[in-house]
Amino acid sequence: QKTQRLDKFISHTTGLTRGQVKQQLAQGEVTVNGEPAKQASMAVSAEDRVCWQGELLEEVGLRYLLLNKPLGYECSRKSSHHPLVFDLLDVPQLDRIQPVGRLDVETSGLLLLTDDGQWAHRLTSPRHKKKKVYLAELAEPLCAEAEIKLAEGLLLEGEEKPTLPAELERLSPTRVKLGLTEGRYHQVRRMFAALGNHVVSLHRESIGELLLDPVTCPEGQWRHLTAQEIQILT
Ligand code: URA
Repeated sequence: QKTQRLDKFISHTTGLTRGQVKQQLAQGEVTVNGEPAKQASMAVSAEDRVCWQGELLEEVGLRYLLLNKPLGYECSRKSSHHPLVFDLLDVPQLDRIQPVGRLDVETSGLLLLTDDGQWAHRLTSPRHKKKKVYLAELAEPLCAEAEIKLAEGLLLEGEEKPTLPAELERLSPTRVKLGLTEGRYHQVRRMFAALGNHVVSLHRESIGELLLDPVTCPEGQWRHLTAQEIQILT
């Protein structure tokens, strides 16, 4: 039976600092299995019922979230200009959750977030070659050589290594789908810039086997990934 220190457990589940936990213990705000507990070093296990100010504390497991990101939201922690994707998530201990690869403020669509660092790392590692598909609206009709140039790899402004071969699907002269297995800074926008075009709007539709379904997850909404989705992605 795995045990941990009472103060550590409370700090972990409430976000209180160890110092604050100590105070709460001293003030009699904590009970273990109905008995007041004062000892910070007391060993507790998953079996024990720890309450703080009358509320049962429960260990939060790892979280895996899928967000349908709207335009205008930023993936960073702090922003002076834009609302944050974190503003759209109502989950406890939000400060632990990180986006798995970012989307630009002006990009919408599928964004994964998690507090499982290893999983996020595997998913973004170039070795895994998870295909990400973007729907792009272009300012000009796409040139005829785009397929050839994408297969050969494009040299992006300021970079020395050409892009990996990318898949292109033409939906109309100015609407395309682009499938990438890497994730460089502003990659899609820069790739179309390298083809002499300009991206007017950009939306991520899928990552690997995971498709964004706007019916089950409308714009601005999020849901937990299923156990199967979590497993299949890495
Ligand atoms: N490529 C971009 O240019 N922007 C994104 O948000 C994602 C990929």
